[in-house]
Amino acid sequence: MLGLKMPVRDFDAIVVGASFGGLAVARQLRGEVLLLDRNEVGTVQTSACGTPLWVPESLGVRNSVLEVHDWLEIRTPTRTVRYDLSRVPFCTFDYQVFCEGLLAQCRVRFLRTSVSGIQDGAVVTGEGRFTARIIVDCSGWRRAVTGGPEPRRHSFGLETHTPLQDKGLTFLLDRRLIPQGLGWIFPVGQGSLVGLGSYVGRSKLKPPLERLLRDSGVGAESYHGTYFPNRLLPPTVGNVFAVGDAAGQCLPLTAEGIRPALYFGGECGRIVQRVLEGRQSLEAGLEAYRRLVARYRRPYRVLRFAQWMAAHTPTRWFAMVTQLAATRPFLPGWWPRYGRFGPLDRSSITAAT
Ligand SMILES: Cc1cc2nc3c(=O)[nH]c(=O)nc-3n(C[C@H](O)[C@H](O)[C@H](O)COP(=O)(O)OP(=O)(O)OC[C@H]3O[C@@H](n4cnc5c(N)ncnc54)[C@H](O)[C@@H]3O)c2cc1C
Repeated sequence: MLGLKMPVRDFDAIVVGASFGGLAVARQLRGEVLLLDRNEVGTVQTSACGTPLWVPESLGVRNSVLEVHDWLEIRTPTRTVRYDLSRVPFCTFDYQVFCEGLLAQCRVRFLRTSVSGIQDGAVVTGEGRFTARIIVDCSGWRRAVTGGPEPRRHSFGLETHTPLQDKGLTFLLDRRLIPQGLGWIFPVGQGSLVGLGSYVGRSKLKPPLERLLRDSGVGAESYHGTYFPNRLLPPTVGNVFAVGDAAGQCLPLTAEGIRPALYFGGECGRIVQRVLEGRQSLEAGLEAYRRLVARYRRPYRVLRFAQWMAAHTPTRWFAMVTQLAATRPFLPGWWPRYGRFGPLDRSSITAAT
């Protein structure tokens, strides 16, 4: 990692946001690359950090894993459905260790500063203006350089760490707890993250979350939460690439946004590197990235429909569907396909070391 005392103003590429999407892009890049974030890398966690175990393993950050989970339960007022995840186990991981591990694989300059937008082709930050031929927006739902938040296209999640000792991953579907949303309990080695998510972007979730904690007999520590998108947004805006939540790539229904940000980030990074090396024009690179994302439109639509069902049909109907999906022949058909979505590879680690 290079220090940056005086900003060099012109770069080959600028990546805005140094969380999952930004780090996945940056670790593919070689050259004069500037990585910007308003926080130090890995210090501000917004996520429950649940993802398939193969994700940290294939990125060389297995040391970030806190707990491995072989099953997932969906609890509703009328029934509990258990999914066997053993063919593609999940894990919960330490956000800071994960992000610092990826940052160590990057050969970029990191600068902590807030980005306020693009003006005359330059990225405007608290530390001055920076230009680059290629700019990638990985700033999450705020979309700092691709036009700002998209109204009414976001879910909202709030969670807290608790001493609750639980096993497996749990989703709670209960209208009395949260209408048009879900709750979760994700064990993280020492205690569990307990949270609520609103599919319709309701952000006043602290009172119902406190009720859930009281009913579970545990106290809260500090709360964290934010918006996340629930539908695809444009993957390119003008000549700017967008990755992760900035491109609406968080999966609807399950609110899994880590894997898509890492997957599309890695693929976008590879395309950008080809452009930097002169093997592809910028226009062809933008088009290749748009085509890649377009290939996933259908599964996103299916998940969005399932999210709509979860939010708008009676919970007992949705619970019946989830129960059916947990049985043979359905589970062995869809679970491995879903669980293995977004293959990641170690090639850039080898190149960086
Ligand atoms: C409560 C909650 C729980 C969740 N749990 C899970 C889960 O268990 N598993 C899962 O897969 N997904 C989960 N998600 C969704 C997941 O967190 C996001 O989809 C994922 O973080 C998206 O990654 P990203 O890199 O695109 O954006 P982010 O992780 O949001 O990162 C954006 C980065 O940009 C920086 N930034 C923003 N604005 C600016 C600016 N103006 N200037 C400079 N820097 C800026 C931020 O500091 C941040 O580092 C959860 C979301 C929430 C809210």
